Amino acid sequence: MRKHDYSKYLEAYNAGASSADLARQAGMNPGQMYRGLRAAGARMRGVSEATKGIKTMPSGKESASFKGGTFIDQSGYIRVRGMRGMPLQHRLIAERVIGRKLRAVEVVHHINGNKQDNRNENLLVCTNSYHRLIHARMDAQAVCGNPNWLRCRYCHTYDAPEHLSVNSFPYHRACAAAYQRDRKLRAAR
Ligand SMILES: [Zn+2]
Ligand SMILES: [Zn+2]
Repeated sequence: MRKHDYSKYLEAYNAGASSADLARQAGMNPGQMYRGLRAAGARMRGVSEATKGIKTMPSGKESASFKGGTFIDQSGYIRVRGMRGMPLQHRLIAERVIGRKLRAVEVVHHINGNKQDNRNENLLVCTNSYHRLIHARMDAQAVCGNPNWLRCRYCHTYDAPEHLSVNSFPYHRACAAAYQRDRKLRAAR
């Protein structure tokens, strides 16, 4: 095993850095840093601090590796068995990582588009409206190669924003006018 010089870590530890953070910086495991600091004469502040923040992945029944603990629902998302309501695994993981319950307006987006990839780094917690924006831009990118383009409510084609009016939704003026004419005709019949 490589010899580490703990004196520099000791200084940082005494200045308030946690041994867990120091272990991460040094690229060694937390237990090794803890023992090394103690051997170097540090007055240790407790094991809970030494392991704080290290475990961000769920364990036991909430873990993706728990055999039989999860299943894939009709929408293609992983759900957890044996918990009330069989919750979505990505929401549980996101809650674990941010350290609180998700709010009703909060959605968990899968960054790479794989609904079953519930690694921390693939999950983005955002509001409902921001989530809709992300997907509108992803769709525009996929369909016409430009994430800024918007889709007309009436003719359903994508166009540059300067060709569209936007109220609560984007539309071509001509398409809206045609739609209104149509409606009047139908009503008159
Ligand atoms: Zn999404
Ligand atoms: Zn249109």
